[in-house]
Amino acid sequence: MNRRGRFDAVVVGGGVVGIACALGMADAGLDVALVEAAEPQAWSPAHPDLRVYAFAPDNAVLLDALNVWGDVQRQRAQPYRRMRVWDAAGGDGLEFDADELARPQLGWIVEHGLLVDRLWRQLERRGVAVRCPARVTGLEQDGAGVRITLDDGGTLDARIGIAADGGQSALREFAGIATHDRDYGQLGLVAYVRSEQPHVGTAFQRFLSGGPLALLPCTQGRSSIVWSLPTEDARRLQGGDVSAFNHELTRASDACLGALELDSARAAFPLRRKLARAQRAGRVLLMGDAAHVVHPLAGQGVNLGLRDVSAWLRSVGDAKAKGRDFDAGARLQRWARERRSDNTVSTLAFEAINRTYSNDLPVSTLLRGRALGIANRVPMLRHALWRHAAGI
Ligand SMILES: Cc1cc2nc3c(=O)[nH]c(=O)nc-3n(C[C@H](O)[C@H](O)[C@H](O)COP(=O)(O)OP(=O)(O)OC[C@H]3O[C@@H](n4cnc5c(N)ncnc54)[C@H](O)[C@@H]3O)c2cc1C
Repeated sequence: MNRRGRFDAVVVGGGVVGIACALGMADAGLDVALVEAAEPQAWSPAHPDLRVYAFAPDNAVLLDALNVWGDVQRQRAQPYRRMRVWDAAGGDGLEFDADELARPQLGWIVEHGLLVDRLWRQLERRGVAVRCPARVTGLEQDGAGVRITLDDGGTLDARIGIAADGGQSALREFAGIATHDRDYGQLGLVAYVRSEQPHVGTAFQRFLSGGPLALLPCTQGRSSIVWSLPTEDARRLQGGDVSAFNHELTRASDACLGALELDSARAAFPLRRKLARAQRAGRVLLMGDAAHVVHPLAGQGVNLGLRDVSAWLRSVGDAKAKGRDFDAGARLQRWARERRSDNTVSTLAFEAINRTYSNDLPVSTLLRGRALGIANRVPMLRHALWRHAAGI
């Protein structure tokens, strides 16, 4: 905080995106405060988080720069070296292989709780002022800065506010930014499973008429499933008998790893699109799920959010290097335009893939398996698809 009691930036939301942004700005020499509604839960290896991410290489570079990636890898991160995507309705599949792409791995499977825990531990060390538990209850802003009101009766003044408070973002609402919403009528069913055959570092995604099933390789020979299903089917499978679940899951996976057996609790979350109509209103910037909630089929939820952060940190670094204001209106606008354009394309692309593959329509089923096969046979196209997902 400067002598007039004002921060350079207040970040609202202490998820992966908000904390990464707060740490990156602190490292760039800004005075930063972070507001989080819930006390963070300490991660323990004995209690794996059901929410896992296929973490992309560019975001590992970001976390490395923030000095947390080494610790995350030492605790628990499973590299994956191959990925196979195919359609239950037939046709050829699409395959990615780290060797062919001359990479040590395609990415890592990492638990959400581990990432938040290791990021959170850095906040105090890096001089970020933390207000937790505290919720945002109001926002005022003018051409010079923002004033954020909290439910503990306090206020925070800053040059900019960053909304990283998730899909139901309160700060986005206070800033008056509306969203384009669509309920996919699906739930994402998540759990850990054991497989008859070893996963050998391979991620699988099979498109089924109800939605895609992803099998993500984890440590200790387990895999994590993210199974997108029509709401009613997901509820039935979430609560139903375990042997029936194992049977249905093995069938849905086409037994790509042999028989699958549930090895954890099951959880389900609603799948919807929420795309903010803008990523900036005055001096408030939207990042992560506050700006874009996407379908999980491409495993890009948290990756897109961290790309908002990286782009913003590049802009701050550029301003500092040139001796300019990091919060100049034109700079904020450039960042917001570029990120919104990238996020809109990604959100709508994932949605189109979900719509094309999650049905039994004859024309659609005829064309889509071929589409994967064609992409697979053209190395340049396959490599470009992977580079886009990997953020490199
Ligand atoms: C159960 C579940 C499973 C998922 N599985 C996957 C998956 O397998 N793969 C994938 O890519 N994505 C998955 N996602 C999506 C992924 O979790 C999000 O894309 C990612 O968490 C977005 O990060 P974020 O930091 O922007 O938001 P969040 O992780 O939502 O963090 C927002 C933070 O803001 C805080 N907050 C909220 N309101 C306020 C307020 N008013 N004041 C202060 N703080 C506030 C919250 O407590 C929270 O800590 C899943 C989501 C859920 C819910």
